[in-house]
Amino acid sequence: MAELTGRVALVTGGGKGIGRAIALSLASAGADVAVAGRSKDALEEVKTAIRASGRRGEAIVCDVTDRPQIDAMFGQVKSALGDPLILVNNAGIAASAKLTETTDEMWDQIMRVNATAAFYCTRAALPAMLSAGWGRVVNVASIAARSGAAYIAAYAASKHALLGLTRAVALEVVTRGITVNAVCPGYVDTEMTDRSAAYIAARTGRPEEAARKILEGFSPQGRLMTAEEVASLATYLCSESARGITAQGIVLDGGSVQA
Ligand code: NAD
Repeated sequence: MAELTGRVALVTGGGKGIGRAIALSLASAGADVAVAGRSKDALEEVKTAIRASGRRGEAIVCDVTDRPQIDAMFGQVKSALGDPLILVNNAGIAASAKLTETTDEMWDQIMRVNATAAFYCTRAALPAMLSAGWGRVVNVASIAARSGAAYIAAYAASKHALLGLTRAVALEVVTRGITVNAVCPGYVDTEMTDRSAAYIAARTGRPEEAARKILEGFSPQGRLMTAEEVASLATYLCSESARGITAQGIVLDGGSVQA
């Protein structure tokens, strides 16, 4: 149902994977959608798909760790489509390492992309949402925001930070028609998971298919989640029906994380 007609959305990391699926899902629900990220070609492909679905689309090259580029991105969305009252902080990176092998650079970069960029974007988006008396922020976190696991200390810390940001901002704007939530997927079938499987294969000497099976086995359903499942949940959280859901970190992982 086209419930988001007339709304403008901004999806970071919208050129591929989960971000691309969310952008297309929001467009199919009626929203005009700007996608931002680093790869112009991928973003242009998504923009074309959004426009083919009859909505307005915009592609913006932006490194979300660079605050001046974020300011420029919001300016570009506003002039092309209007103020984004739906913000999806999806851009993210992952790396796996023992804590003793986690470098300063790895830690800083993961925190900057996964947590600090969401702070920058949310701070930039909120004034227009407050003026409109309506807004939706969806942060793409992870089950690593809800529980720890070995060898992903920087990633887990960054996603816990993102969930903390989600919960705190949600309560700050709770009476203003704005909801702020996080989606917390388990392993999703995207290039990020392909890279995780390749890393496990390289570290253990197993074939990549076997490494993939290990990742599938983290879910009691014995499978990877799909980007479309995450996109459906994100789109639902942007709907009027979901207006009572805020400050949540909603797990989508086939039953592994339960508390
Ligand atoms: P992906 O690698 O396919 O896509 C990540 C996107 O983020 C890309 O478009 C990339 O260009 C963008 N990005 C990265 N750094 C950026 C930067 N500095 N500036 C702008 N854009 C940047 O991965 P994905 O699986 O689609 O991941 C999307 C989100 O979902 C991430 O936040 C990730 O942590 C989260 N997530 C993924 C999984 C999974 O198993 N794939 C599970 C849980 C959560």
